[in-house]
Amino acid sequence: MKLTVVGSGYVGLVTGACFAEMGNDVWCVDIDEKKIENLKKGIIPIYEPGLEDMVKRNFNGGRLKFTTDIGEGLEDTLFIFIAVGTPPDEDGSADLQHVLAVAREVGKRMQKYLIIVNKSTVPVGTADRVRDTVRDELNARDRGDLEFDVVSNPEFLKEGAAIDDFMRPDRIIIGTDNVRTAELMKELYAPFVRNGHPIFVMNIKSAELTKYAANAMLATRISFMNELSRLCEIAGADIESIRLGIGSDSRIGMPFLYAGLGYGGSCFPKDVKALIHTSKEFGLGADILAAVEKVNQEQRLYFVERVSAHFKGDLKNRLFGVWGLSFKPQTDDMREAPAIEIIGALRDRGASFRVYDPVAMELAKTMLGEKNIEYVSNYYDVLKDADALLLITEWNQFRRPDFERMKSIMKNPLIFDGRNQYDLMKMKERGFDYFSIGRDFIHGSTG
Ligand code: NAD
Repeated sequence: MKLTVVGSGYVGLVTGACFAEMGNDVWCVDIDEKKIENLKKGIIPIYEPGLEDMVKRNFNGGRLKFTTDIGEGLEDTLFIFIAVGTPPDEDGSADLQHVLAVAREVGKRMQKYLIIVNKSTVPVGTADRVRDTVRDELNARDRGDLEFDVVSNPEFLKEGAAIDDFMRPDRIIIGTDNVRTAELMKELYAPFVRNGHPIFVMNIKSAELTKYAANAMLATRISFMNELSRLCEIAGADIESIRLGIGSDSRIGMPFLYAGLGYGGSCFPKDVKALIHTSKEFGLGADILAAVEKVNQEQRLYFVERVSAHFKGDLKNRLFGVWGLSFKPQTDDMREAPAIEIIGALRDRGASFRVYDPVAMELAKTMLGEKNIEYVSNYYDVLKDADALLLITEWNQFRRPDFERMKSIMKNPLIFDGRNQYDLMKMKERGFDYFSIGRDFIHGSTG
């Protein structure tokens, strides 16, 4: 089948590459000329495991093409996917300017029937706005006779595992009010659900809201565990034991029950905000989500205060080694990464840093700058003369470090672990002062 994907970021590029991998002819479009130029040369703009090989393979095979001109493939295309950003506006609502700009462009350029598929995360009711926008442009061209459908097809991939998630999705959601369109969408996605996973066809508004509901539910689990972790520390309980205890309940399940530094990234923070905003627009409260967001914001400051308290508030001339900067492992995405806020807050109080991340250092540099921060290329080098190590992102390589080597390099054998990576008892035996999240902080080690 022939399709166009507009927006070649995390979602658009993965979508385009995976559809091409399944033998479709795909145009990937972006307004960023540099990005498109690079993609044509095989330079991939983001770090995503497996993506580079897949893009190159399909580009060389002629199934994947890149352009800045949305009109390029439109005479052949049946599906046009919108996968542009929907960042938070100042009031927390999703900023739809990019989505509507694409809709306008489609209305200006389309020559034949198209299925316009919205993959960006957008508030309930956006498909109507996309439809109206396209229709207005067609009318302005005296082409009101051209037909098109608008479909909502939210994306659930996770950065860091995006290829796998797209190739083997848990489910596919198709929001449409047209039976024939639903069948065409199912045909397009059939190769991805050979494992028997479901394709749910529902009305457009339900599809739009399903995406927010999923992210809000996952964010809620994280904030719930973070809130509980604070109680654990004071009461002498261990959040890790509780995670196992409740996660093994089949009604609850294990995923997304980790206490840590709160959720970050390009999706959860903005989607929780946007859902709160939508609820308010409909005259409803969003009490649970407001609390989810509050707990999340507090969690990073909670970590900062703990570090600060250890040094009795005197952070001037303290040097911290930092392991991990990206918002989670296996990605270079720094959007809403806890590292930004934590390093920023400690730096404001006079601290300096040596930092390491396997893939996110260049992006981090653009966001955090270089004031009081040295970016080093080996994760043991960040420990040189460090007053403490801050473990912020749980990359695999930090799981089993050489603790003796660490001790010999650091000024103090002191670790603040925001991701609960190490065994409390063993850390004590190894001679570290070790602080983690919700693991019997006040009462000492529980093993
Ligand atoms: P991104 O910022 O990585 O990519 C967006 C791309 O769209 C950029 O390359 C930008 O240049 C391009 N763009 C903007 N306006 C354009 C236009 N008018 N024409 C052509 N290209 C244009 O964003 P992303 O992370 O891929 O997210 C895209 C959407 O998917 C968002 O709504 C997001 O919420 C949603 N989503 C993201 C993820 C994720 O993990 N990143 C997962 C599921 C859903």
